[in-house]
Amino acid sequence: MLRGAALRVTRPRVAVLNAVHAHPHADTDSIIGAVRRELPKVSHQAVYNSLHALTAAGLVRRIQPAGSVARYESRVGDNHHHVVCRSCGLVADVDCAAGEAPCLTASDDNGFSIDEAEVVYWGQCPACSTADNS
Ligand SMILES: [Zn+2]
Ligand SMILES: [Zn+2]
Repeated sequence: MLRGAALRVTRPRVAVLNAVHAHPHADTDSIIGAVRRELPKVSHQAVYNSLHALTAAGLVRRIQPAGSVARYESRVGDNHHHVVCRSCGLVADVDCAAGEAPCLTASDDNGFSIDEAEVVYWGQCPACSTADNS
């Protein structure tokens, strides 16, 4: 994947890409933890730099729901959306109901050529809604 994106293959980049694949929607701290199980001496900066390079190359998507730290995932390019739990912050994938971006037609495009409507669903995950009701 790295070579396909014309990125130099380095051990931190490979480890970060593996960590993002293994832990969808993980934040930076969790990714550093996962990478260190593979490469114990890797620096924070090397992980940050790898995440930045992978995101810029389109191999990794960065999402940041309101009130959350940045999270990363390897499912890219399919315009899927997210549902976020207001209580615990759990994030899950939701396929786009319309199929491709932009999934909503603006009532007034203000002359812009619009290529994306950012959709985030908010609510309570099953565990939190059960806890609230007991
Ligand atoms: Zn929850
Ligand atoms: Zn996702």
